[in-house]
Amino acid sequence: MSRYMSSRFDSLEAYVPGEQPQDMVYVKLNTNESPFPPAPAVLAALQGGEVERLNRYPDPEGRLLRERLAEMYGVEYENVFLANGSDELLSFAFLAFCDRTRPVAYPNISYGFYPVYANLYQIPYTEISLREGFVLDPKDYCGLGKNIVIANPNAPTGRAIPVSDIEEIVRTNLDHVVLVDEAYVDFGGKSCLPLIGKYDNLLVCQTFSKFRSLAGGRLGFALASRGLIEDLEKIKYSTNSYNINRLTTAAALATLDSNSYYVANSRKIQDNRTYTGEKLDALGFETLPSLANFIFTRCSWMEGGALYRALKAKGVLVRHWERAEIRDWCRVTIGTREEMDIFLDRVREIRKEAG
Ligand code: PMP
Repeated sequence: MSRYMSSRFDSLEAYVPGEQPQDMVYVKLNTNESPFPPAPAVLAALQGGEVERLNRYPDPEGRLLRERLAEMYGVEYENVFLANGSDELLSFAFLAFCDRTRPVAYPNISYGFYPVYANLYQIPYTEISLREGFVLDPKDYCGLGKNIVIANPNAPTGRAIPVSDIEEIVRTNLDHVVLVDEAYVDFGGKSCLPLIGKYDNLLVCQTFSKFRSLAGGRLGFALASRGLIEDLEKIKYSTNSYNINRLTTAAALATLDSNSYYVANSRKIQDNRTYTGEKLDALGFETLPSLANFIFTRCSWMEGGALYRALKAKGVLVRHWERAEIRDWCRVTIGTREEMDIFLDRVREIRKEAG
């Protein structure tokens, strides 16, 4: 840190993204991307006229894309907000809705960016412990009197709670915003989107990064009541009015035209998730039930950090956190069947070597 940095960030610990090796020699199962490339129509859209128009700013309203998303999800244009990845969406939401008098709460084991935004914006936060087996008990959030952030399915556990539980939390916290981060909802989970017509305080966040194979394009979106969307707009126009670039917009529109391709990919990922879980069972692993494109797993014969390092030495990247509650566990993104077979082969080798 230089001597010019504001002292209010002295204790800020920045988010540490998963490794992104640029040589691509790894089987990359560490950041929950889709192993499948964007649909052919996306590649074709990027050859089109938008490249030639890059001298012009994009539409700050993101009209075309918002209209398409509104149509697709059966909501009004005014219920849709676009952001540069759902990380930006989370950033805007923490800034818009939380402060010293409006603290935030979220599960103690969840997406690592939540505490980072809380610290960045100096928002008091409560981390509510998950129950045995990393299970979220909705009772812990009912009538809480704070803003609430819940990833559903949760990361890194993959566990999901039913929409009825989300509704109970939203209904009993009407004076506070309940943000439901549905980054992983399209791998077998159920969206609470139908509730936004009923509850002004519900903010549903989704992303193109996982199911829609567009992590590199950086596009997230929120669906919520007009009021919450207007608040997010206010923050966006005070931060970066042109937050969605032309190429990403073109790619996203073509993505929405190719839905069946992504649905088929999601089915493959769900099959590979079951396959990998079953094979790991036979290798002495305990794997949590997952509705996401990753699994959270631990083995009886090696500590999580050691397994992560041994896999990395053999060219397979998974994610591990040095944190007491989850030190035994690794999060493994579900890739293609071939990638999962390589992962499983390497696990077998490591097990043999470990004796
Ligand atoms: N929410 C959760 C729970 C995530 O795991 C991630 C991905 N790391 C994000 C949000 C952010 O995804 P993106 O910014 O790529 O949309």
